[in-house]
Amino acid sequence: MQQHLHKKLQAVPSPMCPCGDAEQDAAHILQDCRNLQPLRREIWTRPVPLHEKLHGPVEALHKTTSFITRAGLQV
Ligand SMILES: [Zn+2]
Repeated sequence: MQQHLHKKLQAVPSPMCPCGDAEQDAAHILQDCRNLQPLRREIWTRPVPLHEKLHGPVEALHKTTSFITRAGLQV
């Protein structure tokens, strides 16, 4: 029962991020979260603006998808 509720809560958008710094929204996850910094550096070898990560070009979107998937996030 506890487990089930936990799963349900994960589907709610923008809870507090596990890092404790901010809400877990797209900008925080893609640009700022320190928990995800190693993965972020691995996928984006240069700084990429948020709008590019969210709106393309297509290769940029593929990287974003891969980042989200590998971070184990639900979107
Ligand atoms: Zn965070």
